[in-house]
Amino acid sequence: MDFEIDPDFQEELDWIDEFVRTEIEPLDFIVKSPYDLDDPIRQEVIPPLQKIVQNRKLWACHLGPDLGGPGYGQMKLALMNEILGRARCAPTVFGTQAPDTGNSEILAHFGTEEQKKRFLEPLLRNEIVSCYSMTEPQGGADPAVFRTSATEDGDEWVINGEKWFSSNARYATFLIVMVVTDPENELVKSQSMFLVPTDTPGVEIVRNVGLGYESEDTDHGSHAYVRYNDVRVPKENLLGPRGGGFAVAQTRLGGGRIHHAMRTCGKVRRLFDMMCERALSRTTKGELLSQKQMVQEMIADSWIEMEMFRLLVLRTAWRIDRYQDYRKVRKDISAVKAAMPGVYRNVASRALQVHGSLGASWEMPFAKEVIESFHMGLADGPTEVHKVQVARQVLRDYKPTEDLFPTMHLPRRRSEAEAKYADVLERHLETL
Ligand SMILES: Cc1cc2nc3c(=O)[nH]c(=O)nc-3n(C[C@H](O)[C@H](O)[C@H](O)COP(=O)(O)OP(=O)(O)OC[C@H]3O[C@@H](n4cnc5c(N)ncnc54)[C@H](O)[C@@H]3O)c2cc1C
Repeated sequence: MDFEIDPDFQEELDWIDEFVRTEIEPLDFIVKSPYDLDDPIRQEVIPPLQKIVQNRKLWACHLGPDLGGPGYGQMKLALMNEILGRARCAPTVFGTQAPDTGNSEILAHFGTEEQKKRFLEPLLRNEIVSCYSMTEPQGGADPAVFRTSATEDGDEWVINGEKWFSSNARYATFLIVMVVTDPENELVKSQSMFLVPTDTPGVEIVRNVGLGYESEDTDHGSHAYVRYNDVRVPKENLLGPRGGGFAVAQTRLGGGRIHHAMRTCGKVRRLFDMMCERALSRTTKGELLSQKQMVQEMIADSWIEMEMFRLLVLRTAWRIDRYQDYRKVRKDISAVKAAMPGVYRNVASRALQVHGSLGASWEMPFAKEVIESFHMGLADGPTEVHKVQVARQVLRDYKPTEDLFPTMHLPRRRSEAEAKYADVLERHLETL
């Protein structure tokens, strides 16, 4: 493993850091959603910055040169995303915003030439926005309960059903929808992925749901409850093979999860920085908060968790680059995904606590960040499911013992050692 950063790339990272701080962080206060292409403010301020990023050859760095990116690989991407994680609008300015990144990856991987032309190319240029519509109201973590289905009718598929928490559907030009097409097949071959233009008759957004820190009054919710009422799409809108929905979903989620984790490193670092600044600035009972041992413990625990998590993310990125095969790093990605919400939540909660009442108020970002940590523990699969995945993969490297007692049972190990060194022990009987 080599985490050395080459000096040329470090220069780029320094440039990105400065650019995010001075040009992008302020946008988070004036742009309601970087996904809303109808917002004139967003359209005035974001595209010129995207141009600067493109000219510097830092656009869409998750993609290889065949798709218009520099193909930096996951290690470099991790270091970049760590900086981009600091600002809500930064991924959009750099062309690496979720869920468009994952959606573009599956379009690149499974799309036909026609699909790539119509959906992928404008998506890569951020001329349109996409949505991934998989979770259903009756359950997201268990695809066996999905009911949205499609039936064939001539040259078309007719889709009916409901999806829940389809992020950015309200801004999207098209939805990628997971649908039951072959219920008689075994589960993993029973569903297919479809490209559904959002303006297709029958696509109904029942309501846009917001997260806990957002306000219902301002209608900022961006996670749609979508109903598909006799939605007709031509057969060529099937993405990937019929019955191949699970395989397409897996291809999408591997990259998406690690990219979330990279950005989370940056978010956690920002929270940590705020906590340290406050601890060094606020006094109580005649001394700084930073001199209180329990505050020091919060800082030490946060630093340790943050650095351990960061190393796990970098190691996973390094392994993805090395093996070029997501199946070989499933355990690593699941481990990162499972660790992410805990580190994020712990540091956000401690930063809130150290700021006292100010920390709990809407004048600081901590309450939002605590909820966002739950976002990271739910989207792309709940933590529990990823822990199960880690445990399963880990256990593959172990064998049960045939013995009544464990292999490392001390009496057995001792008698084996005594047998191996019997002659030595014999010679030193008097010292025993
Ligand atoms: C901010 C945000 C954005 C999202 N965006 C999208 C999107 O764009 N598209 C989309 O399709 N979905 C999206 N989701 C939905 C997400 O994929 C689901 O929340 C997730 O799959 C869990 O499904 P669920 O919410 O229905 O919870 P459930 O399936 O009801 O699970 C509830 C809880 O049960 C526990 N649990 C579940 N399964 C297990 C298990 N096997 N073992 C032990 N415990 C378990 C976990 O604690 C879990 O959180 C988003 C979610 C959030 C929070």
